[in-house]
Amino acid sequence: MTLNLLDYDLERLTGLITDLGEKPFRARQLLKWIHQYGADDFASMTDLAKAFRERLAGVAGVLPPELLRHSVASDGTQKWLLSAGGGNAVEVVFIPEQERGTLCVSSQVGCAMACTFCSTGRQGLNRNLTAGEILGQLWWANKALGAVHKRDRAVSNVVFMGMGEPLLNLDNVIPALHVMLDDHAYGLSRRRVTVSTSGIVPNMDRLREECPVALAVSLHAPNDGLRDELVPVNRKYPLRELMAACRRYLEAAESTDSASPAARKWQRAGAPRDFITFEYVLLDGVNDHPRHARELVAVTEDVPCKFNLIPFNPFPHSGYTRSAPDAVRRFRDILGQAGRIATVRRTRGDDIDAACGQLAGRVRERTRRLAAETTR
Ligand code: SAH
Ligand code: SF4
Repeated sequence: MTLNLLDYDLERLTGLITDLGEKPFRARQLLKWIHQYGADDFASMTDLAKAFRERLAGVAGVLPPELLRHSVASDGTQKWLLSAGGGNAVEVVFIPEQERGTLCVSSQVGCAMACTFCSTGRQGLNRNLTAGEILGQLWWANKALGAVHKRDRAVSNVVFMGMGEPLLNLDNVIPALHVMLDDHAYGLSRRRVTVSTSGIVPNMDRLREECPVALAVSLHAPNDGLRDELVPVNRKYPLRELMAACRRYLEAAESTDSASPAARKWQRAGAPRDFITFEYVLLDGVNDHPRHARELVAVTEDVPCKFNLIPFNPFPHSGYTRSAPDAVRRFRDILGQAGRIATVRRTRGDDIDAACGQLAGRVRERTRRLAAETTR
């Protein structure tokens, strides 16, 4: 089987090429070719010895996911549909703004978390994406946006807010993060890479220990009763445990003795930001009452945080509607009056269904959904 070099971070790539009898520093050159110059053909990597390139081509390739469709919205938002094989596909979205370009990447084909207001959650889970399929999204976007060969990269920020629960795929997400942060590849700062989670408590600790980046937590409800319903994983990791995990995430991470020197490089004293971003989708008549806002202030009291209020993005048969602008303002003002920073996320890419929670891709469900399992 051909190895896919998109799956490899610097440490693993160094291992691979030293096994092939090459000098370790060649791994850095390879990373540059693949990720900075968007090369998928060894023949173009002219500063590597021909014999080495031939040996490499015998065992490995640069194999990005196949591009199935590309759409551009009237506001400049772009969406790519990438094949995940077997009739499955995932979506990746680029959101250009004045001072940054944000790429919203997927981490799984579908999602098992079954949040009731999320289109991906309705589809169930097929499988985890590989590190190469996660990085392949960034690789494609940079290439499609014409950013390869230029120093100023089109993608300045990455958010794991596409399809899937990234913290249930850390074995692939962590090496992908390494490459995103690596100066020989994308060189993004830890503050500009955000992992978003529905609240998988033990894996928040693992992320903090192994590769702390900015963290967003999808809250959506201020009490366990309502959150059990909207975000079913709350039945396993209720709010009290989730808030404690958020506080731990912000504490300085101890460098574990067992970690290899290479692993230690990715650990750092503490999270790259001193706050958690709480996401809160506003659902008309469900979680948008002033009482919910007041409860939210109380439940998050001990966690340095900012709120990102997201007007619900509809999809067929969702059963929910978006909160009225007045309700959104009132909600934000209550948080503001309590001294909290709350922003309302502007909806982008409406005309190509590229907004949060609308990503549908193509998912053949294989795993039963969490809701079905936990309600029995
Ligand atoms: N699984 C992770 C990351 C992907 S979802 C998580 O849940 O955090 C990214 C964000 O989009 C989450 O905050 C999610 O709750 C939100 N979202 C899901 N469906 C939505 C919808 N229909 N409208 C608006 N936001 C939605
Ligand atoms: Fe999964 Fe996130 Fe959607 Fe919930 S909101 S179903 S965790 S992708």
